[in-house]
Amino acid sequence: MKIDVLTIFPEFFREVFDFGIIRRARLAEIVAINIHDLREFTTDKHRMTDDRPFGGGDGMVFKPEPIFNAVEKILGTCEREKYAPQTRVVLLTPQGKPLKQAGAKEFADEVENLVLICGRYEGVDERVTEALVTDEISIGDYVLSGGEPAAIVLVDAIVRLLPNALGSETSAENDSFSNGLLDYPHYTQPRDFRGMQVPEVLLGGNHAEIEKWRRAKALEKTQKVRQDLLIKENS
Ligand code: SAM
Repeated sequence: MKIDVLTIFPEFFREVFDFGIIRRARLAEIVAINIHDLREFTTDKHRMTDDRPFGGGDGMVFKPEPIFNAVEKILGTCEREKYAPQTRVVLLTPQGKPLKQAGAKEFADEVENLVLICGRYEGVDERVTEALVTDEISIGDYVLSGGEPAAIVLVDAIVRLLPNALGSETSAENDSFSNGLLDYPHYTQPRDFRGMQVPEVLLGGNHAEIEKWRRAKALEKTQKVRQDLLIKENS
């Protein structure tokens, strides 16, 4: 997968993709991540990416031109109908579809070229959404100062689901949300830590019993903190 991120703060991403699973996936060429400074795509001498909103009101708005220029350079076109297959242009926005594990999986399975637009200020000129964007994505019902943290979240959620990105394919399958439940509790050494014991069932080597216990614990945790997941599962 190739990911291109458009931002006015390229420095924000300087080291963030240099750790753990994402670093390994980049080194193994499972994913290539390019960060683009939107100012490079301006045409005026002050390299302005934003301007005041028509109609008045607070704040500034990202101008369409640098974003159109950037998408045209990256994808070879800024006409959505002419994007190559398996291409998505995502605007990170609190007004977007909430990001879920199933959505991240769909991107990991289906997308080859992903362009991420990080807004700032009051947001992005609506003509960007009308003409360029294929998906508007929100990472939650709260407002961030910019799309950069949201882009990092989205990239991380997708990249770890790309084939061979994780050491073991099964570790993503058992993660929270993948099977409609939250994950079960995990324990490691020592068996006795400050008087707190590892549950006996995990020590006996009876895999059927361990599976049963884990499923029950996952259900118990989901019931306790995320009943909405169970309701969705049964509806
Ligand atoms: N005026 C906008 C609104 O109320 O919908 C909020 C703009 S916000 C201050 C600036 C930028 O941060 C947005 O353009 C978007 O790129 C990003 N952003 C903020 N919250 C986000 C969220 N929950 N998910 C994804 N991106 C978000």
